[in-house]
Amino acid sequence: MKLKKCPKCDSYTLKENCNKCKSKSKEAHYKFIKVRDAPSSKESPKNI
Ligand SMILES: [Zn+2]
Repeated sequence: MKLKKCPKCDSYTLKENCNKCKSKSKEAHYKFIKVRDAPSSKESPKNI
């Protein structure tokens, strides 16, 4: 299942054409987002 995105109205769709404006949708490219605030596993708890 490929997620597509309409370039006109920025709505996501799974179909070839947008549901809203009926224009041809483009493939939405997923970007891997690095989470900065993720808890690092390197930090070990000192309060034992
Ligand atoms: Zn659209």
